[in-house]
Amino acid sequence: MDLLPKHSDGGLARAPKLWRPRRVVITRSALTWAHGREIAARAALLGSEVLELATDRVTLPKSSDERAAYKTAKSTLAIVVAPPGKRRLQPIPPSADWRFDLAEGCHAHCQYCYLAGSLAGAPITRVYANVEEILAGLADYVGQGSVTSASEARAQEGTTFEASCYADPLGVEHLTGSLSEAVRFFGAWEAPVQLRFTTKFDGVEPLLGLAHGRRVRVRMSVNAAPLIRFEGGTSALADRLTALGRLARDGYRVGLTVAPIQPIDGWREAYHALFAQVATELQGIADLDLTAELITHRFTPKSKAVLQGWYPGTVLDLDEQRRSRKLTKFGSTKFVYPAPLMREMRDTLSAMLDQQLPSARLLYWT
Ligand code: SF4
Repeated sequence: MDLLPKHSDGGLARAPKLWRPRRVVITRSALTWAHGREIAARAALLGSEVLELATDRVTLPKSSDERAAYKTAKSTLAIVVAPPGKRRLQPIPPSADWRFDLAEGCHAHCQYCYLAGSLAGAPITRVYANVEEILAGLADYVGQGSVTSASEARAQEGTTFEASCYADPLGVEHLTGSLSEAVRFFGAWEAPVQLRFTTKFDGVEPLLGLAHGRRVRVRMSVNAAPLIRFEGGTSALADRLTALGRLARDGYRVGLTVAPIQPIDGWREAYHALFAQVATELQGIADLDLTAELITHRFTPKSKAVLQGWYPGTVLDLDEQRRSRKLTKFGSTKFVYPAPLMREMRDTLSAMLDQQLPSARLLYWT
């Protein structure tokens, strides 16, 4: 078992700040998996308090103080087993044919976190002990995709599997090693498949030097510099870009997830500066395969309520009056920017991308 991340490219990048959960709990079922026990051992080495549960139920100390409950949950890592229901894959348009999960939840504090609208309950980070079983289940879905596989422009990516819908798997990789397992799995999988994930963290050392077979695309989640202050507990923007460059030099396919795009004062200049920083970081990389996904800010009544509960002092713009109301395909409401503003932002940012990062393929705007 590797207990600590390796530096395999001898790079000069600053050592990443790695999360140390205050408390780690491992369920009875997770204890039966070697991978689960290894995660617990790594956490103990880092100085976390590790508790072995006699059951599979993860609970937190009761608190009537919402703030204290939030802090306790965010500093807790639970090592659990993904049950069969969680191992049944779902399509995840427009990103990938299928979504699979190595973890659920995140310890960071982004005031516009997309998980607020999708995960219920206390924001604990749960990581899965049965990674071997999760990966073994993916083969059943090859050739069945209806998202990227059905797109003329993207079908050459093969069947795509997205691993960051409900978590930021790189943010816990120093504890789990699960992404490295997944990268090795896809690297050895001689089939038209692709592993995809996006991250706001820079701890890429464990992934460098792995035999990924160019079947992995890592996207860095980035935003205009004035918005990074909303992303508490994540890696600095410059460090994320350095990490992206290191991955690209290691032969990984890479990408930018520019999200959530917001028309803040001076947004044109701010996004121009962002793309310029990326261009500097990636210049001169042989075989660079770069994509971009442009995602505007949106919220639902539920995600707004959750985020305002977690971050009562937030100055994030969540004013429904300045948005258009849209119905999702499930019949619920979401608030997006009005169509003329959406068009203006889309045209401006796509043109900037063409000009500043001409090799980047824009996968979608939403
Ligand atoms: S890093 Fe991603 S998953 Fe984690 S809090 Fe921020 S937006 Fe949410």
